[in-house]
Amino acid sequence: MTENSEFRPLPEATGVPVAHLHRETPAVFRGMASDWPAVSTWTFPYLASLAPSLPVQLVAGNREKDRTAFTRSTLGEYLEPLTRDSSADHDQTYLKEFDLLKQFPGLRGDLRHERMFPRGSVSSCSSWIGPARARTGLHHDLLDNFAVQIAGTKRFYLARPGTVERAGALSTKYDSWARLSRVGIAELAADGDPAAGDDFFAVDLEPGDVLYVPARWWHEVVNLSAGILLSGFFGSRMRVASLWARVRLRDTLHRAGLLSPENCTCHAERRGAQHQ
Ligand SMILES: [Zn+2]
Repeated sequence: MTENSEFRPLPEATGVPVAHLHRETPAVFRGMASDWPAVSTWTFPYLASLAPSLPVQLVAGNREKDRTAFTRSTLGEYLEPLTRDSSADHDQTYLKEFDLLKQFPGLRGDLRHERMFPRGSVSSCSSWIGPARARTGLHHDLLDNFAVQIAGTKRFYLARPGTVERAGALSTKYDSWARLSRVGIAELAADGDPAAGDDFFAVDLEPGDVLYVPARWWHEVVNLSAGILLSGFFGSRMRVASLWARVRLRDTLHRAGLLSPENCTCHAERRGAQHQ
């Protein structure tokens, strides 16, 4: 798919992010995080220097839509080619859902997250680090998210809740904290009702931009250049607790082989296995 988007640009939001949450529609806050120390100091060489030989698991390709496969590397080995040329060809492996702050707790001091999350909410933060064209297939999350672009440019394609469901395109592939689509956003938009022009949006995030992605809003995400994104998922204590119980139960069933065995984003697919 080309990245020439004909989707409607997501309108820019003003004011503080928490004021938008009740609308339950995506909103982009330009430059909201541009004064975070992370945006000026987190380069690929800097992150690599923290623990070059740290083993990391990489996701190969678009595991949300296609086959799930992993490769192994080290932080230094993975980040080195990203360092050399942010637009260089690179095999499409992606360091995603990486718990950067757990690995390097000192990096918390470079963030100003407390400004964004609503009071009393529970949040969890992880990072997406990858080359140009690294892609996360169409899915929606179970929790609200503030995505903070730290480095590089990233495009989010967004589709209103219900669009994948109405197209009969829900995937049977299992993911613990998300629901997946069988088709990509371009295919979904092409097959959709042309009158439903308000269902699809696109937005390009630059370093320092913050995007609010409400739970249940479908999104497909692609790096326009090598980049670093921090995702902060959050919810009220009660919502997170009730979701957590459901997610744990489903995950226990999955790991026992009773729910979508071998058709998931968490276990590598055997070659030749056929899945939708
Ligand atoms: Zn699995």
